[in-house]
Amino acid sequence: MSERHSVGFLSALGLGLRSMFRRPGLALGFLIVTLIQGTLQGLLIWALRTILERFSQPQGLTGSSMILGSGVVLGLWLLRSFTVFAAETLSVHLSHRVETESMLEVLGKLLALPVRFFDRHSQADVVMAAYHDLKGIRSVTLEVGRVVLFATQIIGLAVAAWFMNPMLALIGLATVPLGVLPVHRLGRRITEAARGEREAVVTLYDSFYQVATGFRIIRVNRAQTRILDRARRIGRELHHRLVQQAQSRGLARFLLEAVSGFGLIAVLILGGRQVAEGRMSWQSMLGLLVAIMAVYNPLVGLIALYGTIRSIIPSLDRVNAIMQEPIEMQDQATARSLTSAPATIELRGVSFAYGSRLVLTGISAGFRRGETIGIVGPSGAGKSTLLSLLLRFYDPTQGSVLLDGIDLRGIRHSDLMDLSAIVLQDPFLFTDTVANNIRIGRPDATLEEVMAAARAAHIHDEILAMDRGYETVLGVGKGARGVSGGQRQRISIAAALLKNAPLLFLDEATSSLDSISEMRVQAAITQLMRGRTTFVIAHRLSTLRGADRLLVLDGGRMVGLGTHAELLASCTAYRALWERQAAFAAGHADDVTAVGTRDA
Ligand code: ATP
Repeated sequence: MSERHSVGFLSALGLGLRSMFRRPGLALGFLIVTLIQGTLQGLLIWALRTILERFSQPQGLTGSSMILGSGVVLGLWLLRSFTVFAAETLSVHLSHRVETESMLEVLGKLLALPVRFFDRHSQADVVMAAYHDLKGIRSVTLEVGRVVLFATQIIGLAVAAWFMNPMLALIGLATVPLGVLPVHRLGRRITEAARGEREAVVTLYDSFYQVATGFRIIRVNRAQTRILDRARRIGRELHHRLVQQAQSRGLARFLLEAVSGFGLIAVLILGGRQVAEGRMSWQSMLGLLVAIMAVYNPLVGLIALYGTIRSIIPSLDRVNAIMQEPIEMQDQATARSLTSAPATIELRGVSFAYGSRLVLTGISAGFRRGETIGIVGPSGAGKSTLLSLLLRFYDPTQGSVLLDGIDLRGIRHSDLMDLSAIVLQDPFLFTDTVANNIRIGRPDATLEEVMAAARAAHIHDEILAMDRGYETVLGVGKGARGVSGGQRQRISIAAALLKNAPLLFLDEATSSLDSISEMRVQAAITQLMRGRTTFVIAHRLSTLRGADRLLVLDGGRMVGLGTHAELLASCTAYRALWERQAAFAAGHADDVTAVGTRDA
């Protein structure tokens, strides 16, 4: 992302401020305490200098004014300590609240984003946004508080110095802008370096994902060295980017301190002369020097904060970009509800492209309620994409999908989802109990219903054999139990059975099953398909033995639609597919004889 599209420094501060004021009570409390804390330092120096002056007067400090003076200094000191404590406590409350709320917003947004978003972004990028970038929002909230603190400290101390000697205060602080001037340029360098750092960290995260998910492939192909080399390269880039940032911050601080040194020396020489000539007391001179030197501390702090906020900008940009992503699939205000299975489903001139790559072209076909449609074709023909369009994971680039004659875009998507069940080739399991994984589409189902679905999917006995039965936690989390690919598929089939939806989408749903399990699950699936409108993708035509009609795709075009017998007679592509499978299955006679649609 270029600097032009990025949030600038001031908008980053504004964002921090807006985030703070989501909790107005806490934010106001924090800012007031911070303002008091910032003012107290100047007051303390002012009070000390006044006491010193009183000491050197001929009558000195009387007992009562001594007690009063010490009391004031002690009071200011204690108040300052208390405000430090209060500001820290409030800032922790505030920043964590803001972080949690932003996290929920980002999560909500991610849950609402179209499938297309996840095609474009790696898992590492999404997780990074959810974790690392949100921390950026928390830091910027904290930093805004510190900016207020340092700014008040600077103003308080400058005012105290002004009251001690306006001309010398001006001279002492006049050099400050000179030191601050180059900082803006350095700030841009910091943001660019931080952007590079973020990219490197995403790539590193990605390497860890690859190791966690692809360790078998990595082992067998002995790809460890390549992965390590890649990580080493990224590590070097990361190091370079971090050093760049540290150098720019260090340089900004150095410039400020170097230039300020001249101011301090000027005050020392000119003030020293005034003291020698009796035009200023040494107490005022001392107070002035302490005040001017004390101004440099928050100034250096401000410069450091500037660097920190500059380095957070890439994270803010990322979260901003996610929050501004359009929710393409948002229902139209006039969207109709769908309460029961549609009597007809029609694809009318449907074309679809991933970006500029056309993968489906001009598909027109109609289906009736209760039909089982097998979608067949060579790998990459567009079968899964067609299923995604029927589920409205994507909208067609051209043409439309119609349910009962109504464009899918005009139907409430949540209704379509409620009426659909899906079983994928590589089903996803949540880190949750077996029972809850089966309940995913019907959270209110009783354990008896869950068990009935598991029995029908031929997974019940295997669940009972797990250490905690239906309460066994599955998935990838700590203490979670792994399950085989076939078991995952049967759990997913059980979930589809339990959901009892009238529209069923099966994408290679039995690919992970051995032939015995497949026979059993096929029976369950045949049972599941009864009375439902089902779309089934299967490479092995044996899986399609219950289909009424087959839709044949080749290179993104529909080249046939009909029964097995009709297609064998009329569709060259299907016949080729069939013959290839028949030849392959020559040694698996059982499979071949089982192939065929209902009326074949
Ligand atoms: P297979 O039988 O191998 O699963 P398929 O027939 O289901 O293949 P699709 O997965 O629909 O085919 O893919 C159709 C084409 O679209 C392929 O060329 C694929 O590379 C491409 N494709 C699929 N998903 C995406 C995506 N998210 N982004 C870009 N291109 C994609």
